[in-house]
This record gives sequence, C-alpha cells and structure tokens, in this order.
Amino acid sequence: MKDRHGRVHRSLRISIVDKCDLRCTYCMPEDQHFLRREELMTRDEVMAIARLFVERYGVDKIRVTGGEPLVRPDAVDIVRDLLRLPVKLGLTTNALTLDKHLDALVGAGLKSINVSLDTFDAERFKRIARRDGFERVWANIRLALERGLRVKVNMVVMRGVNDDEILRFVELTRDHPVHVRFIEFMPFAGNKWGRERVYTYAEMLGHIGSVHSFEKLADDPHSTAKAYRVCDWPGTFAVISTVTEPFCGTCDRLRLTAEGKMRNCLFAREEMDLLSALRRGEDIAPLIEANVLAKHAMLGGLPPFKPEKQEEVLHDLSARPMVSIGG
Ligand code: SAM
Ligand code: SF4
Repeated sequence: MKDRHGRVHRSLRISIVDKCDLRCTYCMPEDQHFLRREELMTRDEVMAIARLFVERYGVDKIRVTGGEPLVRPDAVDIVRDLLRLPVKLGLTTNALTLDKHLDALVGAGLKSINVSLDTFDAERFKRIARRDGFERVWANIRLALERGLRVKVNMVVMRGVNDDEILRFVELTRDHPVHVRFIEFMPFAGNKWGRERVYTYAEMLGHIGSVHSFEKLADDPHSTAKAYRVCDWPGTFAVISTVTEPFCGTCDRLRLTAEGKMRNCLFAREEMDLLSALRRGEDIAPLIEANVLAKHAMLGGLPPFKPEKQEEVLHDLSARPMVSIGG
C-alpha cells in the first residue's frame, strides 16, 4: 500500500495493551491513565484487523507490542493467532515475566523477540524503570537465548543517565549472539525530552570506535537501524538514529494502538479509529487507505529534531506518550 510520497508500507506494529508492569521515565508519564478493558481490541478484533492488512494490503511483517504485551492474559493466544498469517512476526517486551510465557511462545512458533534493557546496574534500572527488575530481565534474556530465540536488546541512550554503559552493551555482542540496538532518546508527551539529553548516533560511533574496531553491515532496505559488528564477535550492534538522522524516506511502518486507532507514523498527530468503525459493522478499508495516503514526508509533520527547533517540537508533539502508541 503506497502513501502519497510513493513509499510502500508492509510492516505493522500492533499494540495489544497500554498498561505496563514497568514505568520507564522516557516512555510513561507519572500520571498515566490506562484504557478500560472494553476499550481494548479483543483477540478476535486484533486478528480481524491484522488479517485485512495482510490479505488486502500486503503487510508481511507484524510486531506485537504495547505497553507491555505480556501483561495481557491472552497475549500468547494473540501471538499464536498472528503466527497463522503469512508474516514475519516479532514481539517487543520488557521481559520481566518472559520466563512464564517462553515455552508457550516458542511452542507457538515465535522465533524472535526484542527486549528493552537500558542498564546493567540494578539501582539504575530502578531509577529508569521506576520498579525493580534488572535481575529478572537479564535472566530472561539469557533464557530466551538458550531457547534459541533471536534476541534484539533495545537500549535507549540518555546523556548523563546511561551513556557510560554503551561499551558494556557492545561487549554483550562478544559474549552472546545478541543484536544490541542503541536508540536515540525520542520526544514523546510527558517524557521530559530535551535535545541536550540525546546522546547522538555520531557520538555513539565515535565512543565505540575509540575502543573497538568495527565494520558496517548491510542493512535491510526498510531497516530503521544501522548495523555494525565488532571483528568476528557473534552478535551485532546497531543505532536507531531517529533524532539526528531520521530514516523516514525508507520507512514502511504502520501502527495500530491498543484501542484500534491507526497511526501512519510514530510521531503522527492524526489517527483513524478503525475499531469503532469495525464495531459498527462498517468497512474499515477506506479508513486504512486514507490514513496511509495522508502520511507526512518526515517525522509525522513535526519540525526536524534540531536544537534550535526544540521548543517547536515539544509544542507540536502528539498528546500520546510512547507507552500508549506502541513502540
Ligand atoms: N514494553 C515493551 C518494551 O519495553 O520493550 C514494548 C513497548 S516499548 C514502548 C517499545 C520500545 O520503545 C522499547 O524498546 C523502548 O525502549 C522504546 N522507547 C520507549 N520510549 C522511548 C523513547 N522516548 N525514545 C526511544 N525509545 C523509546
Ligand atoms: Fe513499559 Fe516498555 Fe514503556 Fe518501559 S518502555 S514503560 S517497559 S512499555
């Protein structure tokens, strides 16, 4: 499905719940209100909407996310349903309770997960996530690797918060076959973003390069991450440079929030309410097509994330925090 700039969209992120068992400062405002259960897409509604995207619009990649998808009691059933579609399926999780679901997920045929981990320091974890959990998350990452899952570890790098751990995360790729992704700190409603808090892609490469020599790897045409490998280490690392080098030109992602609203960009300020239309028995295809067509050329129409544009960016942000968009 093409947008008005000619970009073809084949990838769909589905948030299945807006709640979370962590409350990361960069993702969830302190006073976050959550949806009521009846406002969430049901398991059948998730499948009905996903099927339309796949069968009519050629979506071939789906990622289940949230909030924290595994806090939803039927999360594994939803993953199992979606695995019946002809798509590459991924799950993004904070891994806090992954051990409880791992057998069922692997049994259902899930091959790859993305796990968020921003630090190896338990106290720092507690400050960032506003909850304890480091030991459990780290144990569950190792468990997932032992079970043969492909594991990507997402670290949001924030200046003065965890930028001193970048090398520790790179060294994870020497000790384990993991794919570490350093994510530039992005602005969302209520996350106290400031351009000065963004530890940039260029700084990351400079810092890593001062200690390790690494090679550039080929990126998928629609990849948001620029991938690298240190020597012959088993894992890889990559940078998601949304702030300093956005990749909007090759972006093929669409999003569905937990209450069934379609967004054509992470930073979109317009949404299409697919779920209400579906519940009224209406055809949702025209809404999907209109939403894709309306996609802005860059950053959902926000000004570039340059230091001199900071006030404008903060003023124009969507009212949704990341936790309720679905990353
Ligand atoms: N709970 C799951 C998790 O933490 O992986 C899935 C949802 S979370 C919103 C998805 C991803 O968004 C995580 O990797 C998280 O680090 C990332 N994220 C959230 N807020 C962000 C921000 N302000 N800047 C960059 N990445 C962010
Ligand atoms: Fe929860 Fe993931 Fe957001 Fe952290 S990043 S608050 S784990 S949804």
